[in-house]
Amino acid sequence: MDCLFCKIVNQEIPADILYEDDLVIAFSDINPQAPFHCLVIPKKHISTLNDITEQDRELVGHMVTTAGKIAADKGFAQEGYRTVFNCNSHGGQTVYHIHLHVLGGKPLGWPPY
Ligand code: IMP
Repeated sequence: MDCLFCKIVNQEIPADILYEDDLVIAFSDINPQAPFHCLVIPKKHISTLNDITEQDRELVGHMVTTAGKIAADKGFAQEGYRTVFNCNSHGGQTVYHIHLHVLGGKPLGWPPY
């Protein structure tokens, strides 16, 4: 399977890795949209949020708790930060391996557009 993020998991292409355990890996986004912008991904390949099953419940929960811990470690817990899953074309998904964006370090606009 030709998946960019699987290649990061398998260390076939480099990434600025911020956190890693048996289930997930977090790395800096190559095109940051905020002073801090990283992606939390599962090591298991899942293409989109549509492909998540009940069996992935703990894995996806672990992605979210990992995002929260990273944000807290970076000092964003008090002022806040944003987490985003994009799904398919209308959601703005460009890499088809699920990833949780973690953005912080400035007030973020809402809605997106
Ligand atoms: P999406 O638009 O929600 O699918 O987000 C994909 C994200 O992956 C974008 O924010 C890209 O900047 C980021 N990205 C693409 N290629 C790389 C890479 O090689 N390393 C780190 N981030 C990447």
